[in-house]
Amino acid sequence: MTRVRGVERILSAYATVEGAGVHLHRAFGYYEVPQFDPFLMLDDFRSPRSEDYLAGFPSHPHRGIETVTYMLNGSVEHADSRGNSGSVNAGDVQWMTAGSGIIHSEMPKPVNGRMGGFQLWVNLPRANKMTKPRYQEIGNADIPTVSPRPDVNIKVICGTVNGVKGPVKDIVADPQYLDVTLGPDTTFSHPVKEGYTAFAYVISGEGTFDAEEGYRISNRDLILFSDGSSCRARSFGKGFRFLFIAGKPIREPVAWRGPIVMNTSEEILQAFKEYDAGTFIKKKA
Ligand code: MN
Repeated sequence: MTRVRGVERILSAYATVEGAGVHLHRAFGYYEVPQFDPFLMLDDFRSPRSEDYLAGFPSHPHRGIETVTYMLNGSVEHADSRGNSGSVNAGDVQWMTAGSGIIHSEMPKPVNGRMGGFQLWVNLPRANKMTKPRYQEIGNADIPTVSPRPDVNIKVICGTVNGVKGPVKDIVADPQYLDVTLGPDTTFSHPVKEGYTAFAYVISGEGTFDAEEGYRISNRDLILFSDGSSCRARSFGKGFRFLFIAGKPIREPVAWRGPIVMNTSEEILQAFKEYDAGTFIKKKA
């Protein structure tokens, strides 16, 4: 039997500064642990002003997590300690499993004066924190869009919608990552496994995720769903676009310092010791 999920919590992204001085909006992060388990953070770096983001994110390490960059406009140029480099362009996704360690830079650049995207951090369980680093870089053209009805468009980055599977594969958290656009006054339901964490983050328009429709949310608002087997959304007015993200909770202790997330403070100290000593990057991988 379908159990429609209700709303556990509503958050609004807040302005913060990251990297070398990037002004962005954070939907959730360090202070929300463990409510979004297996997800750690969602940053929204859409901005019409290049001075908000050109400083970028120069060389920094990651260990124990995955970072997922999804661009709507502009690009992010990246380069890492293993010699990988490239750019994530409008509509593309980069799902980076940092595992045992990556040191990289990420520099947002405008295209035709526009730049915007999101970065999600996904936690790794103890058994996978020191896994071999891996990139899944998927171009916009290789990400399917499903349209079950003329007024519903779902870009499937990860997970399955109406039998169509997203291109990102073999992620421990068994995630779904969808970019959903609804026409005006449209209702949409989507199944989610019971016990999985699920949330929606609004990109544009106005709508509700609650059967009672007791509130409306809009750009930069986030809904954390309560448990159940299905999520529901309804748009108002000119339509509604949101990220829909779900995953299996890890339920392990979280020790988090900056870009490194492990299970214990000893593991964090070890990581920073290795970073300082130049032994952070594991050769065998
Ligand atoms: Mn990074």
